[in-house]
Amino acid sequence: MLEGADVKGVITRTDLLEAMHDDLGRTKSFEGVVKGEDTPQGKVRNISELMKEILDARTRRVLATAGQVAEESGYRAYLVGGLVRDLVLRRRNLDVDLVVEGDAIEFSRTLSRRLKARVRPHRKFKTAVVILKDGFKLDVASARTEYYEAPGAHPMIERGSIKLDLYRRDFSINALAIRLNPDSFGQVVDYFGGLRDLKDHTVRVLHNLSFVDDPTRIVRAVRFEQKFQFRIGKHTEYLLKGAVKRGYLKRAQGPRLLNEILVILRSEKPIRGFDRLHELGILASLHPGMAFDSRTRKVFEQVERIHSWFQLLFLDEEPDVGEIFFNAIMLLRSAEVRNEILGLFHLSEPRQRSITARWDTISATMKELAYADEQPLSRIARLLDEVQTEDLLLIMSLTKRESTVKAVSLYLSRLRFIRRELDGKGLRQMGYPPGPIFRKVLQATQDARVDGVVNSLAEEKRWVRENFPLEKGQGKGKKGGGK
Ligand code: ATP
Repeated sequence: MLEGADVKGVITRTDLLEAMHDDLGRTKSFEGVVKGEDTPQGKVRNISELMKEILDARTRRVLATAGQVAEESGYRAYLVGGLVRDLVLRRRNLDVDLVVEGDAIEFSRTLSRRLKARVRPHRKFKTAVVILKDGFKLDVASARTEYYEAPGAHPMIERGSIKLDLYRRDFSINALAIRLNPDSFGQVVDYFGGLRDLKDHTVRVLHNLSFVDDPTRIVRAVRFEQKFQFRIGKHTEYLLKGAVKRGYLKRAQGPRLLNEILVILRSEKPIRGFDRLHELGILASLHPGMAFDSRTRKVFEQVERIHSWFQLLFLDEEPDVGEIFFNAIMLLRSAEVRNEILGLFHLSEPRQRSITARWDTISATMKELAYADEQPLSRIARLLDEVQTEDLLLIMSLTKRESTVKAVSLYLSRLRFIRRELDGKGLRQMGYPPGPIFRKVLQATQDARVDGVVNSLAEEKRWVRENFPLEKGQGKGKKGGGK
Protein backbone atom coordinates (compact mmCIF):
# COMPACT_ATOMS: atom_id res chain seq x y z
CA MET A 1 0.00 0.00 0.00
CA LEU A 2 2.67 2.37 1.12
CA GLU A 3 4.86 1.25 -1.73
CA GLY A 4 2.06 1.92 -4.20
CA ALA A 5 1.58 5.39 -2.80
CA ASP A 6 5.28 5.99 -3.08
CA VAL A 7 5.43 4.95 -6.70
CA LYS A 8 2.48 7.17 -7.47
CA GLY A 9 4.31 9.96 -5.71
CA VAL A 10 7.32 9.48 -7.91
CA ILE A 11 5.32 9.75 -11.07
CA THR A 12 3.37 12.79 -9.96
CA ARG A 13 6.45 14.59 -8.82
CA THR A 14 8.42 13.78 -11.92
CA ASP A 15 5.49 14.87 -14.05
CA LEU A 16 5.52 18.12 -12.22
CA LEU A 17 9.25 18.53 -12.65
CA GLU A 18 8.97 17.87 -16.32
CA ALA A 19 6.16 20.38 -16.66
CA MET A 20 8.27 22.96 -14.91
CA HIS A 21 11.34 22.14 -16.87
CA ASP A 22 11.22 24.74 -19.57
CA ASP A 23 9.81 27.58 -17.60
CA LEU A 24 9.32 28.03 -13.95
CA GLY A 25 11.55 25.28 -12.63
CA ARG A 26 14.80 26.18 -14.20
CA THR A 27 14.30 29.93 -14.43
CA LYS A 28 13.44 30.23 -10.82
CA SER A 29 16.31 28.22 -9.46
CA PHE A 30 18.60 29.79 -12.00
CA GLU A 31 17.66 33.28 -10.90
CA GLY A 32 18.27 32.13 -7.38
CA VAL A 33 21.78 31.28 -8.39
CA VAL A 34 22.35 34.62 -10.08
CA LYS A 35 21.15 36.55 -7.07
CA GLY A 36 23.07 34.33 -4.75
CA GLU A 37 19.98 33.23 -2.83
CA ASP A 38 20.20 30.10 -0.72
CA THR A 39 23.82 29.58 -1.54
CA PRO A 40 25.74 31.00 1.38
CA GLN A 41 29.43 30.39 1.07
CA GLY A 42 29.96 30.13 4.79
CA LYS A 43 33.47 29.92 6.09
CA VAL A 44 36.10 30.43 3.42
CA ARG A 45 38.49 27.53 3.30
CA ASN A 46 41.95 27.96 1.88
CA ILE A 47 43.67 24.83 0.67
CA SER A 48 46.94 26.25 -0.62
CA GLU A 49 48.84 24.09 1.89
CA LEU A 50 47.12 20.98 0.56
CA MET A 51 47.97 22.12 -2.98
CA LYS A 52 51.63 22.36 -2.00
CA GLU A 53 51.47 18.87 -0.60
CA ILE A 54 49.61 17.13 -3.40
CA LEU A 55 50.46 18.99 -6.60
CA ASP A 56 53.85 18.76 -8.27
CA ALA A 57 56.03 21.85 -8.57
CA ARG A 58 55.30 22.37 -12.26
CA THR A 59 51.52 22.34 -11.79
CA ARG A 60 51.83 24.74 -8.85
CA ARG A 61 53.96 27.09 -10.91
CA VAL A 62 51.46 26.99 -13.80
CA LEU A 63 48.55 27.71 -11.46
CA ALA A 64 50.32 30.61 -9.78
CA THR A 65 51.23 32.10 -13.17
CA ALA A 66 47.61 31.69 -14.32
CA GLY A 67 46.49 33.64 -11.25
CA GLN A 68 48.98 36.44 -11.96
CA VAL A 69 48.03 36.67 -15.63
CA ALA A 70 44.35 36.82 -14.67
CA GLU A 71 45.03 39.60 -12.19
CA GLU A 72 46.93 41.63 -14.79
CA SER A 73 44.11 41.14 -17.31
CA GLY A 74 41.48 42.20 -14.82
CA TYR A 75 39.98 38.71 -14.82
CA ARG A 76 39.43 36.15 -12.14
CA ALA A 77 40.74 32.63 -12.76
CA TYR A 78 39.72 29.40 -11.09
CA LEU A 79 40.84 25.81 -10.99
CA VAL A 80 37.73 23.66 -11.48
CA GLY A 81 36.49 20.14 -12.04
CA GLY A 82 37.84 16.77 -11.00
CA LEU A 83 41.21 18.07 -9.85
CA VAL A 84 39.63 20.24 -7.14
CA ARG A 85 37.51 17.35 -5.90
CA ASP A 86 40.49 15.03 -5.94
CA LEU A 87 42.69 17.52 -4.12
CA VAL A 88 40.25 17.61 -1.24
CA LEU A 89 40.15 13.81 -1.33
CA ARG A 90 43.96 13.77 -1.46
CA ARG A 91 43.90 11.82 -4.69
CA ARG A 92 46.19 12.43 -7.64
CA ASN A 93 44.64 13.80 -10.81
CA LEU A 94 46.52 15.26 -13.74
CA ASP A 95 43.68 17.05 -15.54
CA VAL A 96 44.11 20.77 -15.06
CA ASP A 97 40.93 22.65 -16.00
CA LEU A 98 40.73 26.41 -15.59
CA VAL A 99 37.77 28.74 -15.89
CA VAL A 100 38.23 32.47 -16.30
CA GLU A 101 35.65 35.14 -15.84
CA GLY A 102 36.69 36.77 -19.07
CA ASP A 103 37.97 35.85 -22.52
CA ALA A 104 39.58 32.42 -22.22
CA ILE A 105 41.34 32.65 -25.56
CA GLU A 106 42.95 36.01 -24.93
CA PHE A 107 43.87 34.85 -21.41
CA SER A 108 45.40 31.63 -22.78
CA ARG A 109 47.51 33.55 -25.29
CA THR A 110 48.99 35.72 -22.56
CA LEU A 111 49.48 32.74 -20.27
CA SER A 112 51.20 30.71 -22.96
CA ARG A 113 53.59 33.58 -23.72
CA ARG A 114 54.45 33.73 -20.03
CA LEU A 115 54.94 29.96 -19.84
CA LYS A 116 56.69 29.72 -23.23
CA ALA A 117 53.96 27.33 -24.25
CA ARG A 118 51.79 26.83 -27.32
CA VAL A 119 48.09 27.60 -27.44
CA ARG A 120 45.34 25.86 -29.38
CA PRO A 121 42.17 27.95 -29.38
CA HIS A 122 38.68 26.61 -30.11
CA ARG A 123 36.77 29.73 -31.12
CA LYS A 124 33.44 27.96 -31.34
CA PHE A 125 33.53 26.88 -27.71
CA LYS A 126 35.47 29.88 -26.39
CA THR A 127 38.02 27.52 -24.94
CA ALA A 128 41.73 26.92 -25.41
CA VAL A 129 44.34 24.34 -24.62
CA VAL A 130 47.71 25.57 -23.40
CA ILE A 131 50.46 23.07 -24.19
CA LEU A 132 53.77 23.32 -22.38
CA LYS A 133 57.05 22.32 -24.01
CA ASP A 134 57.11 19.00 -22.13
CA GLY A 135 53.63 18.15 -23.41
CA PHE A 136 51.76 19.08 -20.22
CA LYS A 137 48.33 20.45 -21.14
CA LEU A 138 45.81 22.61 -19.43
CA ASP A 139 42.30 23.39 -20.58
CA VAL A 140 40.96 26.89 -20.25
CA ALA A 141 37.30 27.85 -20.65
CA SER A 142 35.40 31.10 -20.30
CA ALA A 143 32.85 30.93 -17.50
CA ARG A 144 29.66 29.81 -19.15
CA THR A 145 26.67 32.03 -19.64
CA GLU A 146 24.55 29.89 -21.90
CA TYR A 147 21.40 30.16 -19.87
CA TYR A 148 21.29 33.82 -20.77
CA GLU A 149 21.80 33.24 -24.42
CA ALA A 150 18.70 31.10 -24.86
CA PRO A 151 16.50 32.47 -27.67
CA GLY A 152 14.49 35.41 -26.48
CA ALA A 153 16.28 35.79 -23.20
CA HIS A 154 18.09 39.05 -22.63
CA PRO A 155 21.58 38.75 -21.33
CA MET A 156 21.60 40.04 -17.79
CA ILE A 157 25.32 40.18 -17.45
CA GLU A 158 27.99 40.52 -20.08
CA ARG A 159 30.41 37.99 -18.77
CA GLY A 160 29.91 34.54 -17.46
CA SER A 161 30.37 34.11 -13.78
CA ILE A 162 32.01 31.23 -11.98
CA LYS A 163 28.82 30.67 -10.04
CA LEU A 164 26.81 30.05 -13.18
CA ASP A 165 29.56 27.91 -14.58
CA LEU A 166 29.56 25.72 -11.50
CA TYR A 167 25.78 25.59 -11.43
CA ARG A 168 25.80 23.84 -14.79
CA ARG A 169 27.84 20.98 -13.44
CA ASP A 170 26.56 17.57 -12.52
CA PHE A 171 27.16 17.01 -8.81
CA SER A 172 28.09 19.18 -5.87
CA ILE A 173 31.41 17.33 -5.49
CA ASN A 174 32.27 18.38 -9.06
CA ALA A 175 31.06 21.96 -8.60
CA LEU A 176 33.92 23.22 -6.47
CA ALA A 177 36.49 25.74 -7.65
CA ILE A 178 39.72 27.18 -6.29
CA ARG A 179 40.60 30.84 -6.69
CA LEU A 180 43.93 31.47 -8.40
CA ASN A 181 44.28 35.29 -8.30
CA PRO A 182 47.15 36.18 -5.95
CA ASP A 183 44.96 37.96 -3.37
CA SER A 184 42.90 34.84 -2.77
CA PHE A 185 45.03 31.97 -4.11
CA GLY A 186 43.88 28.62 -2.76
CA GLN A 187 40.45 29.72 -1.53
CA VAL A 188 37.74 27.16 -2.18
CA VAL A 189 34.59 28.38 -3.91
CA ASP A 190 31.77 26.18 -2.68
CA TYR A 191 28.30 27.45 -3.58
CA PHE A 192 26.55 24.10 -3.50
CA GLY A 193 27.81 22.25 -0.47
CA GLY A 194 30.44 20.20 -2.30
CA LEU A 195 32.87 20.17 0.62
CA ARG A 196 30.19 18.87 2.95
CA ASP A 197 29.23 16.16 0.45
CA LEU A 198 32.85 15.13 0.04
CA LYS A 199 33.04 14.79 3.78
CA ASP A 200 29.77 12.85 3.94
CA HIS A 201 30.69 10.70 0.93
CA THR A 202 27.58 11.75 -0.96
CA VAL A 203 26.88 12.18 -4.67
CA ARG A 204 24.23 14.89 -4.93
CA VAL A 205 22.79 16.79 -7.87
CA LEU A 206 22.56 20.57 -7.70
CA HIS A 207 18.88 20.82 -8.55
CA ASN A 208 15.84 18.69 -9.21
CA LEU A 209 16.04 18.89 -12.99
CA SER A 210 19.63 17.79 -13.28
CA PHE A 211 18.89 14.34 -14.72
CA VAL A 212 16.30 15.81 -17.06
CA ASP A 213 18.80 18.39 -18.32
CA ASP A 214 21.36 15.72 -19.04
CA PRO A 215 20.44 12.05 -18.63
CA THR A 216 24.06 10.88 -18.99
CA ARG A 217 24.38 12.12 -15.42
CA ILE A 218 22.32 9.08 -14.38
CA VAL A 219 25.26 6.85 -15.29
CA ARG A 220 27.78 9.42 -14.04
CA ALA A 221 26.14 9.36 -10.60
CA VAL A 222 26.88 5.64 -10.36
CA ARG A 223 30.37 6.15 -11.78
CA PHE A 224 31.34 8.62 -9.03
CA GLU A 225 29.57 6.68 -6.32
CA GLN A 226 31.54 3.58 -7.22
CA LYS A 227 34.83 5.31 -7.90
CA PHE A 228 34.98 6.90 -4.46
CA GLN A 229 32.83 4.37 -2.64
CA PHE A 230 30.35 7.16 -1.91
CA ARG A 231 26.59 6.88 -1.82
CA ILE A 232 24.11 8.62 -4.07
CA GLY A 233 22.13 10.95 -1.76
CA LYS A 234 18.59 9.98 -0.86
CA HIS A 235 16.83 12.76 -2.74
CA THR A 236 19.22 12.39 -5.68
CA GLU A 237 18.46 8.67 -5.84
CA TYR A 238 14.77 9.45 -5.81
CA LEU A 239 15.20 11.87 -8.72
CA LEU A 240 17.43 9.38 -10.52
CA LYS A 241 14.92 6.57 -10.21
CA GLY A 242 12.16 8.86 -11.41
CA ALA A 243 14.20 9.80 -14.47
CA VAL A 244 15.07 6.16 -15.16
CA LYS A 245 11.45 5.12 -14.85
CA ARG A 246 10.42 7.72 -17.35
CA GLY A 247 12.95 6.46 -19.86
CA TYR A 248 15.03 9.65 -19.98
CA LEU A 249 18.15 7.62 -20.68
CA LYS A 250 16.91 7.07 -24.20
CA ARG A 251 17.16 10.81 -24.69
CA ALA A 252 20.79 10.94 -23.64
CA GLN A 253 23.40 11.76 -26.23
CA GLY A 254 24.35 8.27 -27.36
CA PRO A 255 28.14 8.48 -27.73
CA ARG A 256 28.51 10.25 -24.38
CA LEU A 257 26.31 7.65 -22.74
CA LEU A 258 28.41 4.82 -24.15
CA ASN A 259 31.52 6.62 -22.99
CA GLU A 260 30.20 6.84 -19.42
CA ILE A 261 29.36 3.13 -19.47
CA LEU A 262 32.87 2.38 -20.71
CA VAL A 263 34.37 4.49 -17.93
CA ILE A 264 32.58 2.26 -15.40
CA LEU A 265 33.77 -0.83 -17.25
CA ARG A 266 37.35 0.47 -17.14
CA SER A 267 37.18 1.27 -13.44
CA GLU A 268 38.72 -0.74 -10.65
CA LYS A 269 35.52 -2.62 -9.83
CA PRO A 270 33.40 -2.90 -12.97
CA ILE A 271 31.27 -5.73 -11.61
CA ARG A 272 30.29 -3.71 -8.56
CA GLY A 273 29.50 -0.77 -10.86
CA PHE A 274 27.33 -2.90 -13.10
CA ASP A 275 25.58 -4.48 -10.11
CA ARG A 276 24.63 -0.97 -9.05
CA LEU A 277 23.54 0.10 -12.55
CA HIS A 278 21.42 -3.03 -12.61
CA GLU A 279 19.98 -2.48 -9.14
CA LEU A 280 18.90 1.06 -10.04
CA GLY A 281 17.16 -0.25 -13.17
CA ILE A 282 19.48 1.77 -15.40
CA LEU A 283 20.63 -1.05 -17.67
CA ALA A 284 17.21 -2.56 -18.26
CA SER A 285 15.77 0.87 -18.98
CA LEU A 286 18.33 1.31 -21.74
CA HIS A 287 17.39 -2.00 -23.28
CA PRO A 288 16.06 -5.20 -21.67
CA GLY A 289 19.00 -6.98 -23.32
CA MET A 290 21.44 -4.88 -21.28
CA ALA A 291 20.23 -6.34 -17.99
CA PHE A 292 23.13 -7.68 -15.94
CA ASP A 293 21.93 -11.27 -15.69
CA SER A 294 23.83 -14.03 -13.91
CA ARG A 295 25.24 -15.42 -17.15
CA THR A 296 26.75 -12.06 -18.10
CA ARG A 297 28.02 -11.57 -14.58
CA LYS A 298 29.81 -14.93 -14.72
CA VAL A 299 31.49 -13.98 -17.99
CA PHE A 300 32.55 -10.67 -16.38
CA GLU A 301 34.19 -12.65 -13.59
CA GLN A 302 35.93 -14.76 -16.20
CA VAL A 303 37.14 -11.61 -18.02
CA GLU A 304 38.65 -10.42 -14.73
CA ARG A 305 40.45 -13.72 -14.25
CA ILE A 306 41.78 -13.79 -17.80
CA HIS A 307 42.87 -10.15 -17.57
CA SER A 308 44.78 -10.90 -14.34
CA TRP A 309 46.46 -13.83 -16.06
CA PHE A 310 47.45 -11.57 -18.95
CA GLN A 311 48.90 -8.97 -16.59
CA LEU A 312 51.07 -11.68 -15.06
CA LEU A 313 52.79 -12.08 -18.41
CA PHE A 314 54.36 -8.65 -17.73
CA LEU A 315 54.14 -7.53 -21.31
CA ASP A 316 54.29 -3.88 -22.16
CA GLU A 317 50.69 -3.91 -23.24
CA GLU A 318 47.65 -2.55 -21.45
CA PRO A 319 44.50 -3.85 -23.11
CA ASP A 320 41.32 -1.79 -22.88
CA VAL A 321 39.28 -3.94 -20.47
CA GLY A 322 36.25 -1.69 -20.92
CA GLU A 323 36.02 -2.87 -24.51
CA ILE A 324 36.34 -6.50 -23.44
CA PHE A 325 33.47 -6.21 -20.95
CA PHE A 326 31.30 -4.29 -23.39
CA ASN A 327 31.80 -6.78 -26.19
CA ALA A 328 31.25 -9.62 -23.70
CA ILE A 329 27.74 -8.31 -23.01
CA MET A 330 27.09 -7.92 -26.71
CA LEU A 331 28.35 -11.31 -27.79
CA LEU A 332 26.15 -13.02 -25.23
CA ARG A 333 23.15 -11.52 -27.01
CA SER A 334 21.61 -12.48 -30.33
CA ALA A 335 22.78 -10.49 -33.36
CA GLU A 336 19.38 -8.81 -33.47
CA VAL A 337 19.47 -7.65 -29.85
CA ARG A 338 23.04 -6.44 -30.02
CA ASN A 339 22.36 -4.39 -33.11
CA GLU A 340 19.36 -2.84 -31.35
CA ILE A 341 21.55 -1.98 -28.37
CA LEU A 342 24.29 -0.54 -30.53
CA GLY A 343 21.66 1.62 -32.24
CA LEU A 344 20.90 3.30 -28.90
CA PHE A 345 24.32 4.91 -28.85
CA HIS A 346 23.90 6.76 -32.15
CA LEU A 347 27.47 6.15 -33.19
CA SER A 348 28.89 7.30 -36.50
CA GLU A 349 28.55 4.88 -39.41
CA PRO A 350 32.27 4.01 -39.52
CA ARG A 351 32.41 3.41 -35.77
CA GLN A 352 29.32 1.19 -35.90
CA ARG A 353 30.78 -0.73 -38.81
CA SER A 354 34.07 -1.27 -37.04
CA ILE A 355 32.30 -2.54 -33.91
CA THR A 356 30.12 -5.00 -35.82
CA ALA A 357 33.13 -6.12 -37.90
CA ARG A 358 34.93 -6.91 -34.65
CA TRP A 359 32.01 -8.97 -33.41
CA ASP A 360 32.05 -10.91 -36.69
CA THR A 361 35.79 -11.51 -36.40
CA ILE A 362 35.45 -12.74 -32.83
CA SER A 363 32.64 -15.16 -33.72
CA ALA A 364 34.43 -16.45 -36.82
CA THR A 365 37.71 -16.88 -34.92
CA MET A 366 35.96 -18.85 -32.18
CA LYS A 367 34.48 -21.16 -34.80
CA GLU A 368 37.85 -21.74 -36.43
CA LEU A 369 39.48 -22.36 -33.08
CA ALA A 370 37.06 -25.19 -32.39
CA TYR A 371 39.51 -27.30 -34.43
CA ALA A 372 42.62 -25.89 -32.78
CA ASP A 373 43.71 -29.31 -31.58
CA GLU A 374 44.07 -30.62 -35.10
CA GLN A 375 45.83 -27.61 -36.54
CA PRO A 376 49.52 -26.74 -36.74
CA LEU A 377 50.58 -23.85 -34.51
CA SER A 378 51.44 -21.74 -37.55
CA ARG A 379 47.84 -21.84 -38.69
CA ILE A 380 46.63 -20.71 -35.26
CA ALA A 381 49.21 -17.93 -35.26
CA ARG A 382 48.14 -16.71 -38.69
CA LEU A 383 44.50 -16.75 -37.67
CA LEU A 384 45.11 -14.89 -34.41
CA ASP A 385 47.49 -12.37 -35.98
CA GLU A 386 44.36 -10.76 -37.41
CA VAL A 387 42.65 -10.34 -34.04
CA GLN A 388 43.38 -7.61 -31.52
CA THR A 389 44.51 -8.46 -28.01
CA GLU A 390 41.27 -7.32 -26.32
CA ASP A 391 39.30 -9.67 -28.55
CA LEU A 392 41.64 -12.57 -27.89
CA LEU A 393 41.15 -12.11 -24.16
CA LEU A 394 37.42 -11.99 -24.76
CA ILE A 395 37.54 -15.24 -26.72
CA MET A 396 39.38 -16.87 -23.80
CA SER A 397 36.67 -15.58 -21.46
CA LEU A 398 33.71 -16.64 -23.59
CA THR A 399 34.78 -20.08 -24.76
CA LYS A 400 33.82 -23.28 -23.05
CA ARG A 401 36.56 -25.20 -24.83
CA GLU A 402 39.76 -25.94 -23.01
CA SER A 403 41.60 -26.33 -26.33
CA THR A 404 40.62 -22.79 -27.38
CA VAL A 405 41.90 -21.33 -24.11
CA LYS A 406 45.13 -23.26 -24.57
CA ALA A 407 45.62 -22.14 -28.16
CA VAL A 408 44.95 -18.46 -27.48
CA SER A 409 47.06 -18.37 -24.34
CA LEU A 410 49.94 -20.06 -26.16
CA TYR A 411 49.61 -17.48 -28.93
CA LEU A 412 49.52 -14.51 -26.54
CA SER A 413 52.41 -15.68 -24.41
CA ARG A 414 54.71 -17.18 -27.05
CA LEU A 415 53.67 -17.73 -30.67
CA ARG A 416 53.11 -14.08 -31.53
CA PHE A 417 56.67 -13.18 -30.56
CA ILE A 418 58.31 -15.75 -32.79
CA ARG A 419 60.05 -14.12 -35.74
CA ARG A 420 61.92 -15.69 -38.60
CA GLU A 421 65.42 -14.32 -39.10
CA LEU A 422 65.65 -14.77 -42.83
CA ASP A 423 64.54 -11.75 -44.85
CA GLY A 424 64.39 -10.61 -48.47
CA LYS A 425 67.99 -9.54 -48.45
CA GLY A 426 69.03 -12.96 -47.19
CA LEU A 427 67.01 -14.65 -49.91
CA ARG A 428 68.76 -12.58 -52.57
CA GLN A 429 72.10 -13.50 -51.09
CA MET A 430 71.06 -17.13 -51.36
CA GLY A 431 70.57 -16.54 -55.07
CA TYR A 432 66.81 -16.29 -55.28
CA PRO A 433 65.70 -13.79 -57.90
CA PRO A 434 63.39 -11.15 -56.33
CA GLY A 435 59.74 -11.55 -57.26
CA PRO A 436 56.31 -12.50 -55.92
CA ILE A 437 57.74 -15.80 -54.70
CA PHE A 438 59.59 -13.94 -51.93
CA ARG A 439 56.41 -13.34 -49.96
CA LYS A 440 55.45 -16.97 -50.21
CA VAL A 441 58.87 -18.25 -49.19
CA LEU A 442 59.18 -15.83 -46.27
CA GLN A 443 55.69 -16.62 -44.99
CA ALA A 444 56.45 -20.35 -45.24
CA THR A 445 59.70 -19.79 -43.33
CA GLN A 446 57.79 -17.91 -40.65
CA ASP A 447 55.34 -20.83 -40.37
CA ALA A 448 58.21 -23.32 -40.16
CA ARG A 449 59.74 -21.29 -37.35
CA VAL A 450 56.43 -21.10 -35.44
CA ASP A 451 55.93 -24.83 -35.85
CA GLY A 452 59.41 -25.46 -34.48
CA VAL A 453 60.60 -27.08 -37.71
CA VAL A 454 63.51 -24.62 -37.77
CA ASN A 455 65.11 -22.78 -34.90
CA SER A 456 67.96 -20.68 -36.29
CA LEU A 457 68.90 -18.67 -39.36
CA ALA A 458 71.10 -21.49 -40.61
CA GLU A 459 68.21 -23.97 -40.28
CA GLU A 460 65.87 -21.56 -42.02
CA LYS A 461 68.24 -21.29 -45.00
CA ARG A 462 68.66 -25.04 -45.23
CA TRP A 463 64.93 -25.52 -45.01
CA VAL A 464 64.27 -22.96 -47.77
CA ARG A 465 66.83 -24.59 -50.09
CA GLU A 466 65.16 -27.95 -49.56
CA ASN A 467 61.61 -26.78 -49.95
CA PHE A 468 62.08 -24.13 -52.63
CA PRO A 469 64.98 -25.51 -54.68
CA LEU A 470 66.67 -23.08 -57.02
CA GLU A 471 66.21 -23.90 -60.67
CA LYS A 472 69.30 -24.72 -62.68
CA GLY A 473 71.30 -21.65 -63.51
CA GLN A 474 69.74 -19.61 -60.71
CA GLY A 475 71.86 -18.45 -57.86
CA LYS A 476 75.22 -18.82 -59.57
CA GLY A 477 77.74 -16.26 -58.50
CA LYS A 478 75.26 -14.56 -56.22
CA LYS A 479 76.12 -16.32 -53.01
CA GLY A 480 77.18 -13.82 -50.43
CA GLY A 481 77.41 -11.13 -53.08
CA GLY A 482 73.85 -9.84 -53.61
CA LYS A 483 72.59 -6.63 -52.07
P1 ATP B 1 37.51 11.70 -13.62
O1 ATP B 1 38.69 12.17 -12.87
O2 ATP B 1 36.93 10.42 -13.12
O3 ATP B 1 37.65 11.74 -15.11
P2 ATP B 1 36.13 14.17 -13.86
O4 ATP B 1 35.34 14.92 -12.84
O5 ATP B 1 37.38 14.79 -14.36
O6 ATP B 1 36.38 12.75 -13.24
P3 ATP B 1 35.01 14.38 -16.48
O7 ATP B 1 34.00 13.51 -17.12
O8 ATP B 1 36.35 14.52 -17.11
O9 ATP B 1 35.15 13.82 -15.01
O10 ATP B 1 34.37 15.81 -16.28
C1 ATP B 1 35.11 16.95 -15.90
C2 ATP B 1 34.18 17.95 -15.20
O11 ATP B 1 33.22 18.44 -16.13
C3 ATP B 1 33.38 17.34 -14.07
O12 ATP B 1 34.07 17.42 -12.84
C4 ATP B 1 32.09 18.13 -14.08
O13 ATP B 1 32.27 19.30 -13.34
C5 ATP B 1 31.93 18.52 -15.54
N1 ATP B 1 31.02 17.61 -16.26
C6 ATP B 1 31.35 16.57 -17.03
N2 ATP B 1 30.27 15.96 -17.54
C7 ATP B 1 29.22 16.63 -17.08
C8 ATP B 1 27.81 16.50 -17.26
N3 ATP B 1 27.28 15.52 -17.98
N4 ATP B 1 27.02 17.41 -16.64
C9 ATP B 1 27.56 18.40 -15.93
N5 ATP B 1 28.85 18.56 -15.69
C10 ATP B 1 29.69 17.70 -16.27
